[in-house]
Amino acid sequence: MNYIVLDLEWNQCPSGKKHEDPTLPFEIIEIGAVKLSADFRPLGSYHEIIRPEVYKKLHYITRNVINLKEHDLQGKRSFPEVFRDFSVWCGEDYLFSSWGSSDLPELQRNVAWHQKKGNLDPVWPFATPLFYRDVQKLFSIVHEDGVRRRSLEWAVEYLKLDKKEKFHDAFSDAVYTSRILAQIPREVIDQYVSVDTFKTPRNREEEILLSDGSCTHFISRSFKSQETVMRDRLIAQVRCPICGGQCHKKIDWFQETGKNLLCAADCPEHGLLKGKVHLRQNGAGRWFAIKTIETVPVSELDLILKRQESAGKRQRLYQKDSRQKDGRIIIS
Ligand SMILES: [Zn+2]
Repeated sequence: MNYIVLDLEWNQCPSGKKHEDPTLPFEIIEIGAVKLSADFRPLGSYHEIIRPEVYKKLHYITRNVINLKEHDLQGKRSFPEVFRDFSVWCGEDYLFSSWGSSDLPELQRNVAWHQKKGNLDPVWPFATPLFYRDVQKLFSIVHEDGVRRRSLEWAVEYLKLDKKEKFHDAFSDAVYTSRILAQIPREVIDQYVSVDTFKTPRNREEEILLSDGSCTHFISRSFKSQETVMRDRLIAQVRCPICGGQCHKKIDWFQETGKNLLCAADCPEHGLLKGKVHLRQNGAGRWFAIKTIETVPVSELDLILKRQESAGKRQRLYQKDSRQKDGRIIIS
C-alpha cells in the first residue's frame, strides 16, 4: 500500500458568500501530491494548476495566501481533466494523507459537483468509508499533546527540515507534509486512523467503530435532523472502550454547546468513562454523530458535573430570552 500525500489550494467567490454557489463554496485550483511507498520511499509526484470554471477571479484572501495569480490559471486544464489524470496516477492500492482534515472533503465536493454537471464519470472514485492519515494530528500526537494543531510551517521549523520552498503552494506543502509523515513512527501511523465524513455510513451495517486502546470512536449513519440523532439507541448508549460492556450513565447526555454533547458513565471493571458526541453534517447536509468514549480518572466526574451545571444555566438563560421575545410568560 502506498501513501498519497495530498495538498490542495482553492479559491472562493471573489464577490462574497452572497454570490457563491453553495454547492461549491471552494473551487480547487491546484493539486500537489507525493507518492510514498509503505516504507516512505518517494515513488513519484504530481502537480497541476487548474483553470477555474466557477470563480474565475481570485478572492482577496486566496490572492494573499497562495502564490498564484489569475494569469497563472489561464490556459490550464479543467478540474475533470486533471482529476481523471490524478486518479490514474494515484493507482489502485493507496492511502491518502494530508495536513489537517480539510483537503479530502473539498476534493470530494469538487468531484461530486462535476459529476452532477455530467463532466465526470458518475461512479464514486473514493473508498467508503474513506480512511486517511491526518499528518497534522499525528505530528501533535508525537511531538505535543495530541490536541494542539500547528501550521505546516511551524512543524517544519520544529523538526528543523530544510525550508527552501515557499508555503501555501500545493506541491511544496505536499512535499513538506510527506517529509513529516516519513518521521512519524509506524505504530503511531497504524494506531491513529482518521475517517473522512464527507460521505457517512449509509446504514447500520456500515457504521464505523475505531479503537485506540482506552478510547473508541463511533461514526453513525446520517439522519434528517439534528434532533433525531440522539434518539438513536446505539448512539445514546455507552460501551466501555476496554471490555465492550454496556455501562450505566452517571450523568446522562447533556448539550454542552449547540452541537456538542457530554455524558459520564461507569464500567464496574474499568471505572469512569467520559462520552462526547459531536453532531455534524455530511456532504449531503444530513446529520450524523461522532461519538468518543474514553476512560478518565475519577476526578473528571466533578468537572463534567460543573460543565453540566453551566450548560444548564446557559440553557435557562436562553429560555428566558426566548420567552421574553415571545412576550409570553411561562412558569416552569
Ligand atoms: Zn470495562
